[in-house]
Amino acid sequence: MEENRLKPMDAEQLREYGHKMVDFIADYYKTIENFPVLSQVQPGYLRNLLPDSAPNQPDSFQLVLDDIQAKILPGVTHWQSPNYFAYYPSNSSVAGFLGEMLSAGLNIVGFSWITSPAATELEMIVLDWLAKMLKLPEDFLSAGQGGGVIQGTASEAVLVVLLAARDNVLRRVGKNALEKLVVYASDQTHSSMQKACQIAGIHPENCRLLKANSSTNYALSPELLSETISHDLTIGLIPFFLCATVGTTSSTAVDPLLSLGKIAKSYEMWFHVDAAYAGSACVCPEFRHYMDGVEEADSFNMNAHKWFLTNFDCSALWVKDRCALVQALSTNPEYLKNKASQANMVVDYKDWQVPLGRRFRSLKLWMVLRLYGLENLQCYIRNHIELAKHFENLVVQDPRFEVVTPRIFSLVCFRLLPPNDEDDGNKLNHDLLDAINSTGNVFISHTVLSGKYVLRFAVGAPLTEEKHVNAAWKVLQNKATSILGESFC
Ligand code: PLP
Repeated sequence: MEENRLKPMDAEQLREYGHKMVDFIADYYKTIENFPVLSQVQPGYLRNLLPDSAPNQPDSFQLVLDDIQAKILPGVTHWQSPNYFAYYPSNSSVAGFLGEMLSAGLNIVGFSWITSPAATELEMIVLDWLAKMLKLPEDFLSAGQGGGVIQGTASEAVLVVLLAARDNVLRRVGKNALEKLVVYASDQTHSSMQKACQIAGIHPENCRLLKANSSTNYALSPELLSETISHDLTIGLIPFFLCATVGTTSSTAVDPLLSLGKIAKSYEMWFHVDAAYAGSACVCPEFRHYMDGVEEADSFNMNAHKWFLTNFDCSALWVKDRCALVQALSTNPEYLKNKASQANMVVDYKDWQVPLGRRFRSLKLWMVLRLYGLENLQCYIRNHIELAKHFENLVVQDPRFEVVTPRIFSLVCFRLLPPNDEDDGNKLNHDLLDAINSTGNVFISHTVLSGKYVLRFAVGAPLTEEKHVNAAWKVLQNKATSILGESFC
C-alpha cells in the first residue's frame, strides 16, 4: 500500500507520478481521435458515477487514473482534437504544456515584484517581445509609460481598461457623472464588453451596441459612430469608451481602427482594440494590415491561449498609459508594503488586474516563443488559414450551400440553402448542426447574422490536417443529404 501514502510534497514521488501522468497525457493525445469530439453525456451524468463524499482514506493513484479514463474523459469535449472546429480554438502545445507544468511546479503567487522578481520581469520582457512581433507602436512597450500584462481572459482585459477609462473621465468631469458615461461598440462585439459595463456600473442604457450589417461585412461604421456620439452629446451624455474588434466572435469582422480611433481621440475617449482571436494572425506580415490604426488605440488585447500555441490561460493586454490602470486598481495595504514597491522602482502587477494573486503565466508564453520561434508560429497560422480556404472552396463547389460572409482568417461562415424560398433555412441549419455534432466525428458551432442561422467552421486546433477538414466536409455533406431528403418527404 506504498502508493496510498502520497506525501504533500516529495521529490521522488513527484518524479514517479509525474512521469506516469505525462505518459497518461501523451497517450491521450495519441488516441484523441477515438473520443467523440463533443461529449455525448447527459446533464448530471457524473453524480451517478462518483461517491457522495470524499474518501476518508487515500485512494491509489492508479484508481484515480482509472476513474479519469472511465468517468471523466466521457464528459470531456476534446478541444485539442483535430476534428474540433467549434467557437474558436484553444491551443495546447508541447512548449505551452511544459511551461504550464513548470508554472505549476514552482507555484509562486507573483502579485508584487518582491514575491518573485523573475515572474514580473519575465512578463514585462515577454510582452515586449510579443508587442514587437505584432509591430505594436512603441508606446505600448514597457520602456516608456506603457507596457503589457497577462490577464486570464479577454473579458478581464476589457474590464480593467474600462475601469481605468471610467476613472480617468470621472477625474476630469467629476465623480457624480457616472450615469452620464457612454460606451460604444458594434453589436458584433463580444459580450464580455457588456459584462464589463455591468461590473463597472455603466448604465445599461448607455452601452451603445451599434448595428453592423452585411454592407460593411459586419464591421462598425465610423459614420454611424459619429452620428451617435453627436446625438449623445446634445442630450448631455459623456462619451468615454470605444471598443473595436479585429476578428469578431461571430464572423471575424474587422472594424476600421484608423477612422474609429480618430473619432475616439477627437472626443477624448479611451479606445480599446479587442483582437482576442485574430491578433495571432497579425504576427504574419501579410495579415498585419488588419491592425492598421492600432496607433490610435489606448489598449490592445490578444489571447495567446486561443490560436498561438499557448495553453489556457494567457490573454495579453497592452496599454499606453500604465498609470491609468494603477490608479483604478491599486491598493496598498500595510501587509504588502516593501522597499522596492515603496521606492517606485518596480511594476507590481497586482495593480494591473482584478485579483491579487497571479500565476507565473509568462513562463509558458516565453517557452512558446523560444521553442517555436516567430517563423514557425507564422507557418502555423498560415497553414490554418490555408485549410480554412480549402474548406471554403469545398463549400463553394456544392450548390446546396452558401458562404455567408467573406472568409478573412481561419473561420468559414456558411449555411445550407433552404430548398424553397418561403423557408428561412434557420431550422434546417439548426437541425444540420445537431446532426453533425451528434456523430461525435466533428464539432462545429453556429451564430446568427442578419437573422440567418449560420454554421461556423473554425480551423485552429494544433493537430488538424487537410484530411480532417475533408472528413468533416464529408460528414457535413452526408448529413445535409439526409436532412434535405427528409425535408422533401
Ligand atoms: N473577444 C473576442 C473577439 C472573442 O472571440 C472572445 C472569445 O471567443 C472573447 C473576447 C472572450 O474571450 P475570453 O474567454 O478570453 O474572455
